[in-house]
Amino acid sequence: MTITYVVEEDHLYVNMTNRCPNACGFCVRSLNERREGEADLWLEREPTREEILEQLKSKDLDSYRELVFCGYGEPTCRFDDLVWLCRQVRQMSCVNIRLNTNGLSDLINGRSTAPELDGLLDSVSISLNASTPEKYQEICHSRFGLEALPAILKFTKTVGLYVPKVYMTVVDNMPREEISACERLCRETGATFRVRHFLDHQSYVEK
Ligand code: SF4
Repeated sequence: MTITYVVEEDHLYVNMTNRCPNACGFCVRSLNERREGEADLWLEREPTREEILEQLKSKDLDSYRELVFCGYGEPTCRFDDLVWLCRQVRQMSCVNIRLNTNGLSDLINGRSTAPELDGLLDSVSISLNASTPEKYQEICHSRFGLEALPAILKFTKTVGLYVPKVYMTVVDNMPREEISACERLCRETGATFRVRHFLDHQSYVEK
C-alpha cells in the first residue's frame, strides 16, 4: 500500500484516499496510467491516520521541500484526519505543507472548512478546470452538479484568509479563451493563477 511517495526528489506526497465526489475524464484513477517504476497509488483500504503518521515519522521531514497532501482521490474526503495530521506534522517538523484539492471540501463535509486550516498549511493548490458551472460539470462530472464550481470559488476566497499561498490551476490543453476566463475567475478569488502542462503525467497526479 503506497501511503507516501516522492516526487521530484524533494517533495513527499501523502496518499490518503481513493475517494472523490468528482469523476473527471482526465483523472489518473480512471486512466489507470502508470509509468514503469511508479508507485501504484490505488489503496486497497484507507490507511488510518495513525498509520499515515507512522510513515511520516519514519522520514526525515525537514529534508523535503514540501509535504503534499494530494491523491489518489480527494484528501478533503478525510478532512478531520487531514487536520489532525497537519497538527502532528507542525509539532515535529518545519517542512512546508501543501494541500492539492478540488476545492469541494465545504460540500463534502457539509460546513465551511477553511477556518479549520488556520496555521496548518503553507499553501493550497485548487483545480479550477472550467470557467462556468456547466463546463465544470461537463468535465468533472461532480456529484454536486452545478453547485460545485460556486462552492470551489467560495472555498478559495475563504481559505486565503487562513493559508498564506493559494493557487488555482488549469491545464494548458484548454482553449485559450477558456484559460483567460478561468484566470479572470481566479483573480476574483484573490488566488494566484497557474497553468499546468496537460501532457505532464505528474500534473494529473498533482491535480
Ligand atoms: S477531482 Fe481530482 S481526484 Fe477527483 S476525479 Fe477529478 S482529477 Fe480525479
